[in-house]
Amino acid sequence: MLCLVGLLSSCEEELVHNSRIDGDRCMSLVQKQIDFGPRLLNSKAAKETAEWIAQEAKKAGWEVEIDEWTEKHRGKVNTYRNVICTLPGEGKDFILLGSHYDTKTIPGKADFISANDGGSSTALLIELMKHIPKGGKSVRMVHFDGEECELNYAHNDGLHGSKRYASQLLVKGELRNCKAMILVDMIADKDLHIAIPANGDDKLKDLTLELAKKNNWSKYFSKGTMAVLDDHVPFVDLGVPAIDLIDFSYGPNNSYWHTEKDTLDKLSPRSFEIVGEVVLQMLEELR
Ligand SMILES: [Zn+2]
Repeated sequence: MLCLVGLLSSCEEELVHNSRIDGDRCMSLVQKQIDFGPRLLNSKAAKETAEWIAQEAKKAGWEVEIDEWTEKHRGKVNTYRNVICTLPGEGKDFILLGSHYDTKTIPGKADFISANDGGSSTALLIELMKHIPKGGKSVRMVHFDGEECELNYAHNDGLHGSKRYASQLLVKGELRNCKAMILVDMIADKDLHIAIPANGDDKLKDLTLELAKKNNWSKYFSKGTMAVLDDHVPFVDLGVPAIDLIDFSYGPNNSYWHTEKDTLDKLSPRSFEIVGEVVLQMLEELR
């Protein structure tokens, strides 16, 4: 009986807790990407997705540019596009939010639609644009292309968009102005648990856990022990305080990852609301 009462009160607390993020809208933004088709390297769907993200950014009142470039790999010329969205603020310093929108090309798996792996974080960033207010430091939001590798991660395979943007910051002398980089990836699993990869900034990890605790969401976040190769790495390597909010336990033994099982029905509006609200509160602290 006591146990039941305990369960009920924690459920109620969970249900009434407010998030500014509209989880249902996020789900429809994932569906929109699925409708374009897999956002594969050099595909029409990838180009259309980049243009759609740019339109959504403009609608939300952000400045936007599409940075398109080519790279040669294994005798083939590949085209990539980063969608760079900016909410101008005071001074030169800025906070960087990132996510990748490309779908991994997996030979023989045309039914891999990447709802969570690329789709969810892209949707969350688009939704976040509506909720990040002007005032304080600038916020830059970069939707990276080419996160997924073609064969194996190497200097010329994978993380194309993030490597390019990090090197652009270096060349422009803007690295020191990037006060924090928050990457989101695979954030909408119904069974949400963000184990923050070990390779990330300790202060940003602590801030995430502190805010999760404040919201009574500690069960959804922890410090992971594994390093993860993701789009935050090029920034970590250049000394930018960066963190990767990724739920890399998707299905039993991560078995939905990079398979045809990565579909919309595995996602939950609530997961978007929890991760999105924590990111909004992180921005409030960092700006
Ligand atoms: Zn992936």
